[in-house]
Amino acid sequence: MPTFPFTEADPIQHPGPPPKASEVVIVGGGIIGVTTALFLASRNIPVTLLEKGRVAAEQSSRNWGWIRKQGRDADELPIVIEACRLWRQLADECGEDIGLNQTGVTYLANADKDMAKFEEFMRIAAIHELDTRLLDTDQTAKLITGMSRRFAGAMTTPSDMRAEPWLAVPALARLAVRKGVRIVESCAARTLDIAAGRIKGVWTEAGYIETSTVLVAGGAWSSLFLARHGVSIPQLSVRVTVAATEPLPEIYAGAAADDHIAFRCRQDGGYTLAAGGSHLLYLGPDAFRHFTQYLPALRDNPFGTRYFPFAPSGYPDGWSTPRDWAPDSESPFERMRVLSPAPEPAKLRSIERNFKQLFPRFETVRLKAGWGGMIDAMPDVVPVVDRVQAIGGLFVATGMCGHGFGIGPGIGRVVSDMIRGNAIGHDLSRFRLPRFYDGSPVRLGPAL
Ligand SMILES: Cc1cc2nc3c(=O)[nH]c(=O)nc-3n(C[C@H](O)[C@H](O)[C@H](O)COP(=O)(O)OP(=O)(O)OC[C@H]3O[C@@H](n4cnc5c(N)ncnc54)[C@H](O)[C@@H]3O)c2cc1C
Repeated sequence: MPTFPFTEADPIQHPGPPPKASEVVIVGGGIIGVTTALFLASRNIPVTLLEKGRVAAEQSSRNWGWIRKQGRDADELPIVIEACRLWRQLADECGEDIGLNQTGVTYLANADKDMAKFEEFMRIAAIHELDTRLLDTDQTAKLITGMSRRFAGAMTTPSDMRAEPWLAVPALARLAVRKGVRIVESCAARTLDIAAGRIKGVWTEAGYIETSTVLVAGGAWSSLFLARHGVSIPQLSVRVTVAATEPLPEIYAGAAADDHIAFRCRQDGGYTLAAGGSHLLYLGPDAFRHFTQYLPALRDNPFGTRYFPFAPSGYPDGWSTPRDWAPDSESPFERMRVLSPAPEPAKLRSIERNFKQLFPRFETVRLKAGWGGMIDAMPDVVPVVDRVQAIGGLFVATGMCGHGFGIGPGIGRVVSDMIRGNAIGHDLSRFRLPRFYDGSPVRLGPAL
């Protein structure tokens, strides 16, 4: 079965060398780095974006493509509402078809206890005047046709959207370049140059860039990069498996999930599928170091995580991954240009089985592709979006916890204003970095 289309063998679209100086340097060419760069350049701020592999080759292309307000943490919701508006604006501006469609998101309830959870979100939805509504058994069967099971009901948000991740983020990167962003692929940021508690520059594998301002938006690699400079964030990453079908007759134009299966209609008429149930955590030094911070999440969902004792070599939390390196020697970032775990064969089988059980008319359908991804996680299931107080000019936007694609342009806009010292327009206190060290209790965000 073919796996994922983005690899480090793909031609470089944004070649170097990097400039000698830049007002802002962004580490990481995923949705967060690309949209932050785009909004900075729109305000005429010179910005260079460094990507160790290829733009969007990690989480930002491997994701399910859901852009949802439904089920969000209350403090993320205002930002994702803004993000939905920005998605439309950016889709128009970039002039490419990124598959953006307002086709809705639906959570299916297997039992009344699921409906009770949905009702909790309805209170938040009402505050923000979302179009989210609850459906009964018959209404659910009408919304998604051909299901073999009768569900207790569902929660649906018709204004939620979808887009094709592997088209969208590269298209936004091209738009960013047209606005003046200097993107350099295959160029790892190795270390920061810090003097008197302030950023002076960035050492890259292709030389030094003088700068006063750095944003770390390195996805699963952010904690490794920052820890080298004494900034500790309790970030881990978990492996998940995704699959794609050939084009099929339409059962639902949006995205939906229950505990067993998640499916999302793609622009080509196929469905992107994923299994419910557990993800796989590779245990490495950071997993042990941050274990206690993750206890509330583990207690909340004790069977949500499976463990493998050895994080593979070269992975961000690998046992043999160096924690320290010199600016002029090879760093772990360039040793692994694209973090691309294989899909789990057992998961691919259960995805196919669960999809066919729910939609018996697709009994003969075969999966056409499967791929893996590493989702970067935080103990309270919400990101870190903050400036680093101890190092002047250093900003972090990472730990999007499996829902950073949809909110991406909102975070990009917010961080661009944070960097410029402007009013942000949202309360970001939930996402502050010191929450893990200042005695704040862990307040869990929603897991899905
Ligand atoms: C299977 C899967 C399904 C998901 N489904 C959804 C969904 O439906 N909806 C949703 O909203 N979200 C979803 N997500 C989550 C979403 O994809 C991520 O939250 C989001 O893409 C994170 O973006 P990012 O820019 O923070 O990180 P990434 O996309 O991981 O980008 C970080 C980049 O930084 C680069 N980098 C790291 N270190 C360095 C360095 N030192 N120098 C240079 N470059 C560096 C990396 O190579 C990488 O390309 C899913 C994720 C996965 C894996």
